[in-house]
Amino acid sequence: MAPKMLTRFAPSPTGELHLGHAYSAVLAHHAARAAGGRFRIRIDDIDGSRSREAYVDAALADLAWLGIGRDGDPVRQSDRLGDYAAALDDLDARGLVYPCFCTRADIAASLSAPHGPSGAIYPGTCRDLPAAERARRRAAEPHCWRLDMARAVALAGELDWEEVGQGMRRADPAAHGDIVLARKDAPASYHLASTLDDAAMGVTHVIRGADLVAATDIHRLLQALLGLATPAYRHHALVCGVDGKRLAKRDAAASLASLRAAGVDGAALAADLRCGRLPAGYSLRMP
Ligand code: GLU
Repeated sequence: MAPKMLTRFAPSPTGELHLGHAYSAVLAHHAARAAGGRFRIRIDDIDGSRSREAYVDAALADLAWLGIGRDGDPVRQSDRLGDYAAALDDLDARGLVYPCFCTRADIAASLSAPHGPSGAIYPGTCRDLPAAERARRRAAEPHCWRLDMARAVALAGELDWEEVGQGMRRADPAAHGDIVLARKDAPASYHLASTLDDAAMGVTHVIRGADLVAATDIHRLLQALLGLATPAYRHHALVCGVDGKRLAKRDAAASLASLRAAGVDGAALAADLRCGRLPAGYSLRMP
């Protein structure tokens, strides 16, 4: 029997939530409730320099205002660092990751770094360092950890995911190059943490913005490498402002706090968003 549907909403507490977040949360919540399933909140708070506790409280207050009830306590990524470290150790033991000592300036200076779906493709400077140099520098220099993409892809083979309503999609992780799995300043990248969390939480359907379609290439690969179940995905259209650009945290007028302060009824707004109806001036677009 298929497991009960479980969806999640995973805000990063680095700013106020806006209409785009509300749309995503409403869709994920509604999908779970309509299927008699569960809905959970995850707080993506491992970016120590940008995460603020006040934004966690604000996000939870916004969701309550929208009438979005959750199952269980929110999961916090900052409580899960041990799992991320264990996964990284596992990949390291299998020769699938390597420490990278390059600075941003080093990478920018390397000639003709081509661009992939996640930005500049890492030129591979630290991939094949001699073992002794790697060990010495690892003990002495700040470093991030990168996935050896060619090896990972060779091991995993061809991979697909189900895009709800559209059938199977082929993942193309190789196009991203050697992506970062643990940062100099954070114990796991979004990709590693989110993939591990979705699996640990038993998420069956990941419902999130279409700006993250390309990230799914990587998440699907990590699932294969780490022996994790693959959820179905639904990448939805993005809420755009009057200028036609997707909302960002700096768009104060679209923040849920300002809508609430202006007397908007949260439950009515949630019901409208569920049907794709947005307040005047906003629209939904696929990127
Ligand atoms: N914290 C991530 C974000 O806000 C979550 C993305 C996801 O849903 O996987 O972009």
